[in-house]
Amino acid sequence: MKDIKAIDRQYVMNTYARFDLLIERGEGSLCYDENGREYIDLTSGIGVNSLGYSDADWAGAVAAQAGRLNHTSNLFYTEPCALLAEKLCLRTGYDKVFFANSGAEANECAIKLARKYSYDKYGEGRSKVLTLVNSFHGRTISTLSATGQNGYHKWFFPFTEGFEYVAAGDIGALDKAADGACALIVEFVQGEGGVVALDKEFVQKAYDLCRRRDILFIADEVQTGMGRTGRLLASEHFGIRPDVTTLAKGLGGGLPIGAVLALGEAAGTLGFGMHGSTFGGNPIVCAGAGVVLDKLDGKLLADVERKGEYIRRRLADCEGAANVSGLGMMVGILPAHGTAKDIAKKAITEGLLVLTAKDRVRLLPPLTITDAQLEKGMDILTGILNGKETI
Ligand SMILES: *Cc1c(COP(=O)(O)O)cnc(C)c1O
Repeated sequence: MKDIKAIDRQYVMNTYARFDLLIERGEGSLCYDENGREYIDLTSGIGVNSLGYSDADWAGAVAAQAGRLNHTSNLFYTEPCALLAEKLCLRTGYDKVFFANSGAEANECAIKLARKYSYDKYGEGRSKVLTLVNSFHGRTISTLSATGQNGYHKWFFPFTEGFEYVAAGDIGALDKAADGACALIVEFVQGEGGVVALDKEFVQKAYDLCRRRDILFIADEVQTGMGRTGRLLASEHFGIRPDVTTLAKGLGGGLPIGAVLALGEAAGTLGFGMHGSTFGGNPIVCAGAGVVLDKLDGKLLADVERKGEYIRRRLADCEGAANVSGLGMMVGILPAHGTAKDIAKKAITEGLLVLTAKDRVRLLPPLTITDAQLEKGMDILTGILNGKETI
């Protein structure tokens, strides 16, 4: 048998520190390596497989669409794209959507939209984009600029100009930085930053400030969106409707998609020829995303909330969890013993997949995980968290 890991290491650019595990197939919240060994998945990729691995209805819609029309250019209309846009807008209350292929691309579009919105109304000199310290917005040159972590601002100079970082919670600093700004971008729960939820009062004050000064409030819900926190959009927890919301990870159910939702005036800002994407709105991807959205009904959202509470209850009783953060089924765990990375490695040896974010173990289970699978996964995880001698 070919040594796939060795071939990958030789021929794929070495940008990922992969775990020593080859995943061959999956079903629901279980996946299997090349030896048929089973793993309980508490990762969903990284919050992507919202319906788990290869959900039958999702796979059926994707396969049917692949057999009917795989792609056409955005010079023509297609049904899956239009129907997904309609569904997204009706479910979220937004007016229009732009389809991209990833989270970073969706954020790029949001940044372009905000600068154009401000240019149209106020002319030059109002192009600054405010983001939060410890944020993560993507890997393109501009979204790295938007990312408020110095560790990402290396090697690739020059980065896109016009970004300023404000500490989450510091409304005074935000007010000071607001001169010359066209947008504020926030993650309601900073995912890559360590699963840190924003303070509700700060979010509402920041939103009011943006309203007063006609600064677009952009929610990067690439990780928090699509039911992850127990609401379709995490903004619902905070009682605000951002001008712009970006989605990606969980939207496609495993296929690449990004979406930029915009409200009112912002929805009309980008006109013919001002933005575009060859693959954006691909019929196969949109057909799959349509199934994800259909399945994400009130019952599943209530289930997500309940399962999130269950996870938190288990961790509250777990001596090895020093602190638990996040919202819904987006969970960060500061281990009392050992490092997050070592815990994730140990978990693999015990048939469990978990993620890390900074110094935390991060859980993003499939939204559809069964109670029994979740219970077994939490048994394994709490056992590892408590078993200090084994790490
Ligand atoms: C993952 C992520 C991105 C980047 O998404 P890609 O699809 O990898 O480009 C941007 N913002 C947030 C909040 C994310 O979690």
